[in-house]
Amino acid sequence: MQVPNQEITLPLLAENQVKLFVKREDLIHPIVSGNKYRKLKYNLLEAKKTAHSTLFTFGGAYSNHIAAVAFAGKKSGFKTIGVIRGEELVEVWEENPTLRFAHEQGMQFHFVSREQYRQKNSPKFIEELQNQNGLFYLLPEGGTNALAVKGCEEILTPEDAEFDYVCCCVGTGGTLAGLINSSNSNQTVLGFPALKGDFLKEDIYKFVTRDNWNLITNYHFGGYAKMDRALIEFINDFRLKTGIQLDPIYTGKLFFGIMDRVEKGYFERNTRILAIHTGGLQGIQGMNIVLKQKNLPTLNV
Ligand SMILES: *Cc1c(COP(=O)(O)O)cnc(C)c1O
Repeated sequence: MQVPNQEITLPLLAENQVKLFVKREDLIHPIVSGNKYRKLKYNLLEAKKTAHSTLFTFGGAYSNHIAAVAFAGKKSGFKTIGVIRGEELVEVWEENPTLRFAHEQGMQFHFVSREQYRQKNSPKFIEELQNQNGLFYLLPEGGTNALAVKGCEEILTPEDAEFDYVCCCVGTGGTLAGLINSSNSNQTVLGFPALKGDFLKEDIYKFVTRDNWNLITNYHFGGYAKMDRALIEFINDFRLKTGIQLDPIYTGKLFFGIMDRVEKGYFERNTRILAIHTGGLQGIQGMNIVLKQKNLPTLNV
């Protein structure tokens, strides 16, 4: 699966003599878009090979991963079960567009408290879930494991070696790890975390052996799924001027960060940057509901 690299021609880039291209992974599919498709690819093959009939995973109420697992699971003939953070959702999940969609694909939900949810990596908790649900193929929260990283190694193509920087947003870091593994040693891979936390570097090192990469940690806007007026206005303006839709949780923060760094002169003249649009657009409908509740402007779609 290959997608185009689209050049962005905003005045700020020309003024700073920086070239910016976007790899349109968001075009892979409207729901299983971008990196979630890449991360599932080899996991679904493995689940088939090992004769599993059920995919089991974890996620929040707006999770792109939950939507992708539900959709891809159905398409590949798996039963899907999602452990969803927030027991209060039991009553109101039908108001949530992501969960409604996942349910339409046949996903079964277990709503758990935040406290229970934190045990998601505990072997004892997983064993209990296996006892209740029968044997399943476990996809971790966010979908990151070695096979997911392998899938993300297919994002870059040999032609992408011409870029000086490869930039990507970071949740768990699985996508970034794949990019690092398939980058050239003369390229620098920059990750823009969408959340606070020092654990990411360690997590990423579990999957990579190179060190031509770095994390740019000041564009998380206060944490995961946190956003402010400046970010929403940036996303709406970017769409107006480039025709490219970004999401407020991941790719909006990435492009805000890249443009801010261009403006501050961080990139040398004649630098060529490739930014990965990892998709995630299914979450916008739900985010607009949240933004309205917070009295913030909403995203134009
Ligand atoms: C899940 C997701 C990410 C984060 O990917 P990781 O591999 O967990 O770092 C980035 N962008 C979008 C749109 C996502 O849905």
